[in-house]
Amino acid sequence: MTEGRDAPTIRKAIEVSGMVQGVGFRPYVYRLANECGLAGFIANTPAGVTIEVQGPADKVEAFLERLPREAPPMARITSLASRLMAANGERDFRILMTRLDRAPTALVSPDVAICADCLRELFDPRDRRHGYPFINCTNCGPRFTILREIPYDRARTSMAVFPMCPACQAEYDEPSNRRFHAQPNACWECGPRPELRGPSGERITADDPIRAAADLLASGSVVAVKGLGGFHLACEATDAGAVERLRERKRRVEKPFAIMAPHIDAIANFCEMDATSRALLLSPERPIVLLPWKTGSRIAPAVAPGQRYLGVFLPYTPLHHLLFAGRGFEALVMTSGNLSEEPIASDNREVLQRLAGIADAFLVHNREIVRRCDDSVLRIAGGRPRQIRRSRGYVPAPVALESELPAVLAVGGELKNTVCLVRGNEAFLSQHIGDLENLESYKFFEEAVEHLQAILEVHPNILAHDLHPDYFSTRWALQQSGRERIGVQHHHAHAAACMAENHLDGRVIAVVLDGTGYGTDGTIWGGEVLLATYEDFERAAHFRYVPMPGGAAAIREPWRMAVGCLIEFFGDRAFQKRVPFTEQLDRAHVGMLQRMVERGLNTPRTSSCGRLFDAVAALAGICRTVTFEAQAAMALEMCLEPVRGQLGAQLEDAYAFHLQDSAMPWQIDSQPMFEALLEDLERNTPAGVISRRFHDGLAEVLCQTALRLRERMGLRRVCLSGGCFQNAYLFEKLTARLVVERFAVFTHAEVPAGDGGLSLGQAIVAARRASARSQEQGDKH
Ligand SMILES: [Zn+2]
Ligand SMILES: [Zn+2]
Ligand SMILES: [Zn+2]
Repeated sequence: MTEGRDAPTIRKAIEVSGMVQGVGFRPYVYRLANECGLAGFIANTPAGVTIEVQGPADKVEAFLERLPREAPPMARITSLASRLMAANGERDFRILMTRLDRAPTALVSPDVAICADCLRELFDPRDRRHGYPFINCTNCGPRFTILREIPYDRARTSMAVFPMCPACQAEYDEPSNRRFHAQPNACWECGPRPELRGPSGERITADDPIRAAADLLASGSVVAVKGLGGFHLACEATDAGAVERLRERKRRVEKPFAIMAPHIDAIANFCEMDATSRALLLSPERPIVLLPWKTGSRIAPAVAPGQRYLGVFLPYTPLHHLLFAGRGFEALVMTSGNLSEEPIASDNREVLQRLAGIADAFLVHNREIVRRCDDSVLRIAGGRPRQIRRSRGYVPAPVALESELPAVLAVGGELKNTVCLVRGNEAFLSQHIGDLENLESYKFFEEAVEHLQAILEVHPNILAHDLHPDYFSTRWALQQSGRERIGVQHHHAHAAACMAENHLDGRVIAVVLDGTGYGTDGTIWGGEVLLATYEDFERAAHFRYVPMPGGAAAIREPWRMAVGCLIEFFGDRAFQKRVPFTEQLDRAHVGMLQRMVERGLNTPRTSSCGRLFDAVAALAGICRTVTFEAQAAMALEMCLEPVRGQLGAQLEDAYAFHLQDSAMPWQIDSQPMFEALLEDLERNTPAGVISRRFHDGLAEVLCQTALRLRERMGLRRVCLSGGCFQNAYLFEKLTARLVVERFAVFTHAEVPAGDGGLSLGQAIVAARRASARSQEQGDKH
């Protein structure tokens, strides 16, 4: 055995790439090298950092072993390679400040919630930053939302206008300090300040504007609070009157609000929480997590009308902590500061305008939000956290891809839009942009496209877009001259996103269920089973087409879908049934819809699974009209009465669907399901039971379809994608059935199953097609 002092002196060069700049990596390495008694240096490089260490061989090995293991929380190492070098006479360890100006492959960090050290200082009366709402260090604070361009330096962030005071500068310059090169470093002396403004933007003088805002909240006011990626509208979640006022003013009738709790233990007062959700809530990304809502809690029912789940999160900026500190709120509603369907407001002037009449006061500050970024939303399903809205805390961290691909910019869909840029073997999804039919969102889309290309320093020549000619994103792509455009079918993109996230290659069975997507035949698809590769797909099966009387109106009014389905499957016979749904119908309405369906007037036909949920929800008396997307499907899931311990079982009483598998595409016929459902309605079967039978039937017929495809094609891998899989019961039930049938089941976790993940799939399909094509051309030459 070699003792430390006897070990030979060696020198090693170490290349580290990934997210290692602007995350406290250099001071960390400096400390670690000193602890190990090593000489050498560290410097930033275009791809990350380069380190050279010199000392006794065992110490160098110990350093190498600890380097990735003890890295700072925000660091993300994607590769680490070391090689031996000739030793020299170096005696100490230095941080070399020379750096290459351009850093094209280093990663920009997402925003990170306040760390434990900063939190301690925030509430320490002896600390010079006591009560300072913008306290941060290299382990925490704003990043993506304050960054104008790379490389990440104070001068290129919205902190540029705040020159550091001598005390902050000293910390910034000292390699052993936690704030060494912390770009947003600031204090009371030199940094941004909070300010309270009245309903029409007038300054309200207050010694402590945050405390004054808390007092307003406690008296039932609605306060707009400037956060990291935008404004929140806040009110006390236990104050029914305040919540109702917020709903009225925001014109948000039913869509649930998220609530922020002061600390993790407070959440137990109103939600069920297991270890997985607890860890997720406490993660540095601090997302909103959907948790089962405990009955009898003090949270006002109007926070999430008719829901069994609450979106809950924890404070992530120092300002949030200070807001809670004085008044001991049990929970605050913290919903995006916008009117329904508009993007989150981020600019002081803009917010005073847009939120006038909604907020009673504005808690603002003078650090500009350069990039708006909504809160992320996740849900635990199948025991794992899954993204529903991937935004703050996760963006712009990349999704790792299996192989290097040509650069592509994918512009996403129409609703819940995100864009995605592929660079090398990584895919960068933008923050949640929203529904593009809204002008504000469309502007945000254009900004996000520019910003993503700027911070990644890639302007791809290939653009990927949806096939729908009227999507604003498609139109934008088609207007870009001089760039190649590749159209990708909507459900193929969903399938490819799922494959990419799971590093699959070859051909898979993809079950893609969503609201609507443009098919290759120009009809509206949405309940699809595909045989998919990245480059191509075959439509293996789909739900039988049903009429959508009134087109878009049928999406807003699920009762129209129900009537459409009744006409499709039963003709006149349907309205002779004595069930509550048909008895409550207006005869004139039915007559009108019948004529529309018969003549095909403004009545597109669709294979959508989402619309099937709408029809069933309306028939079961759960939901006749909706005010937000997927509301009927959510309501149907919420009322479901599960049968305990039977998840993987094929249940006898599941509604039957008929699979017609003569010629491809096969057809999944819902007629027997609707027959059984009407019989249940005649028997006054509770909606919760109807919902469960419908879900189970759906899962069963999809499992049977996969089984039959396996028989014929030998495929054993099934991908589940599309917005309908945000329904936890359907997802868990179908997964369990497929696993019992010995399929390998893949689905989403890192990116949303819904249209928020669409751009990833578009990008991969286009990139793979482009690289296949250039390979072909290469083969010819
Ligand atoms: Zn910190
Ligand atoms: Zn300072
Ligand atoms: Zn979709």
